[in-house]
Amino acid sequence: KAKSTRSGHHVYQSDDDSHGDVRLRTLQELRSAIGDDELELHYQPKVDLASGNVQGVEVLVRWNHPTRGLLLPEHFLELVEEAGLMHALTQIVLTKALDQAVLWRAQGELLTIAVNLSASSLVDRDLPDRIGAMIGSRGLPASVLTLEVTEEFLLNDRERARDILTRLRALGVRIAVDDFGTGYSSLAYLRDLPIDELKLDQSFVFPMIDDERAATLVSSAIALAHSLGLQMVAEGVENSVAYDELVRFGCDSAQGYLVSRPVPAEELNVWLADRKV
Ligand code: C2E
Ligand code: CA
Ligand code: CA
Ligand code: CA
Repeated sequence: KAKSTRSGHHVYQSDDDSHGDVRLRTLQELRSAIGDDELELHYQPKVDLASGNVQGVEVLVRWNHPTRGLLLPEHFLELVEEAGLMHALTQIVLTKALDQAVLWRAQGELLTIAVNLSASSLVDRDLPDRIGAMIGSRGLPASVLTLEVTEEFLLNDRERARDILTRLRALGVRIAVDDFGTGYSSLAYLRDLPIDELKLDQSFVFPMIDDERAATLVSSAIALAHSLGLQMVAEGVENSVAYDELVRFGCDSAQGYLVSRPVPAEELNVWLADRKV
């Protein structure tokens, strides 16, 4: 039956579709969240394993919901996609993250910023130009930004991926393949797509501390990356045993709860200051 919403739109739903009601409400909340600035960024440091220095941060979005509190991406990103709001979210995340990069540089913190891009936000052919303008207008070097893309995007439409990534890389932005090893069995894209870095998924890193075959897989993936001239970043480093193994394997950098959870910028600033003393 037809139901009127407060905004006067008619929405069709069955009488027993209470789940639909919840989704509808969340959708409206999501639209206003994007307008009302309820999206927040948390930052997780990435450590250079050779020196132990913090080289950059990954940006992870949170929704500070007025009644439900701070929501993780798993609770709203799918809905953002369905609502066709991913472009808007990407734009907000990029804007806030680059503004934060400017603040950090003013404090003498030359942190690189890695932003996650969903396959859907990469469909936008204007994205490279827009990102170029956003970096340029802030006086940032393009090398400050790394874009994390998924294997799904790289493989679904190779030609489009090549075009977009080539243009992004021409700006001087770095490209990382996120969740490396989980997406598809094909590694052919490693041969001919313009990428700089692989991020080894945490599902490979977690078991490496007590499973020799898992550790062998990790060291082989690192060797593969290096033989192709790519950097390897390990995700989900939760303990010092894994950290030390990754150093031994020559992995380039690491992220994980052992170093720090993702935290708001102010908290990261305190953490950075503490590390220096
Ligand atoms: P991801 O890009 O693979 O990010 C890594 C996730 O692992 C983050 O979850 C992070 O908090 C978590 N993590 C980091 N270190 C550890 C660890 O040592 N142990 C464990 N167990 N987990 C760790 P989070 O923040 O919930 O983000 C989930 C996913 O949401 C991200 O996975 C990414 O795919 C997506 N996402 C986050 N922010 C954005 C965004 O701004 N745009 C888009 N398109 N996607 C985003
Ligand atoms: Ca990521
Ligand atoms: Ca990942
Ligand atoms: Ca992931």
